[in-house]
Amino acid sequence: MEQKKQFAYFEGKFVPLEEANISIMTSGFLYGTAIFEGLRGYWNERREEMYIFRLREHYERLADSMKIMHMVDLKYSIDELCKLTIELTRRNAPRGDTYIRPTIYKAAKQIGPSLLNNPTEMCMFTVPFGDYFHGVDGLNVQISAWRRVEDNAIPARSKIVGAYANTALAKTDALAAGFDECIVLSENGHVSEGSAMNVFMVKRGRLITTPSTENILEGITRGTIAEMAEAELGLKVECRQIDRSELYIADELFFCGTGAQIAPIISVDRRPVGDGKVGPISDKVRSLYVSICRGEIPKYSKWLTPVFNREAESLGKTAGKPAGTSCS
Ligand code: PMP
Repeated sequence: MEQKKQFAYFEGKFVPLEEANISIMTSGFLYGTAIFEGLRGYWNERREEMYIFRLREHYERLADSMKIMHMVDLKYSIDELCKLTIELTRRNAPRGDTYIRPTIYKAAKQIGPSLLNNPTEMCMFTVPFGDYFHGVDGLNVQISAWRRVEDNAIPARSKIVGAYANTALAKTDALAAGFDECIVLSENGHVSEGSAMNVFMVKRGRLITTPSTENILEGITRGTIAEMAEAELGLKVECRQIDRSELYIADELFFCGTGAQIAPIISVDRRPVGDGKVGPISDKVRSLYVSICRGEIPKYSKWLTPVFNREAESLGKTAGKPAGTSCS
């Protein structure tokens, strides 16, 4: 079957993907001074529809990252960013799960990292995207010897491209040592997050996750779980510092993120988590999350933006941080 022509959004225009190229002198490439979002579109075969998950919330977070990185000269409203994302996805017309990657970058062609007098530009592409962890059900993870970037070094709450060198080192060493993933600690020794996902611990029927002050990216999936866990599963969610050794004696552990979705952890540093199998609560959270994302639970359709029908014009009806959660 002939591959449909793919488009990108690049510096103000939709262009064929192969024409969306930056110069090797671009500031964002030379210094990592770019920020991004990673969104997922979930394909619903029965309805022949693509649902973008929490579209608006991703752009609210992007706007925060832009503020931190002196990128507010790029004048797109959140509504415009949502519209561009829907339009690009429509043009590329995927018929399967899709990853959508907008990047905002410093575009001056000059030596020197200053963010001032350095125009900001934007690009976006879509690619087919299935499971992040291929062929593994429960993950074997290690505590990384690397530490998470500190807020006063590179703020982790902003999705800054340069900070992903930290992620890359941690992830690579975990894979090289034969693990599937890693958990990274902050300089203070407390748990921060996974390489590109947040962590939840289950202990005595409670869900516990690390606070936003622990150098984490404040994940949209994390907020989603915090919002629905009590309503749907009757689980209390607590947000507090987690010690490394608490991981070794947790009843269950799982990662969550746009890419990883819900990924149960079955061992940490070669110590089995619980009985070393995917735990029942992690499994329930995982099934519920997938059903929500695919548009199978009407109550949560507020989190989905359909791409191919006119409802898409409503641009993802939720706004702001998830309500009713003690987890920030
Ligand atoms: N932490 C990091 C470092 C990430 O890159 C991601 C993925 N965006 C997450 C956590 C999870 O965030 P979200 O649920 O918004 O995808």
